[in-house]
Amino acid sequence: MSENKQRLEIVTPQKKVFSEDVDFLVAPGADGELGILPGHTPLITSLNVGIMRVEQEGKKYSIVVSGGFMEVRNSKVTVLATAAERTDEIDVARAEAAKKRAEERLASKVPDIDTLRAELALRRAITRIKAASGK
Ligand code: ATP
Repeated sequence: MSENKQRLEIVTPQKKVFSEDVDFLVAPGADGELGILPGHTPLITSLNVGIMRVEQEGKKYSIVVSGGFMEVRNSKVTVLATAAERTDEIDVARAEAAKKRAEERLASKVPDIDTLRAELALRRAITRIKAASGK
């Protein structure tokens, strides 16, 4: 690997989503966006639901990550995500349906509704829709 590259591996319990050398990435860290260049100091952080932006030889990719952990060490970035999708894998109709379901749950006055779960589902859906629309 060249000095200016770093390996990015994104895996979920279901699959390997990404495994390539990249120039730069920005991750949705729990405490804010984290820009990572090759040779970055070692770190481990949890991730929010958000969009990971990747630059690779002038090309830019967006990958939705739905929380998890990221480790940076020796120019290797490992993301263990609960779920992750590249923008071309996102089913927008499915995300719209999930958004509607979550909004309806949050609007309902049912007392035993799991609000945090519905809020997280809503956040995942909104992030997927945003990423798929290229924003
Ligand atoms: P849904 O209610 O539609 O299942 P969800 O947010 O509950 O949405 P997750 O639990 O985050 O779904 O993900 C389950 C699996 O489905 C993961 O592998 C994830 O990558 C995939 N997935 C979820 N939503 C989409 C989508 N809109 N397009 C493509 N893949 C999706």
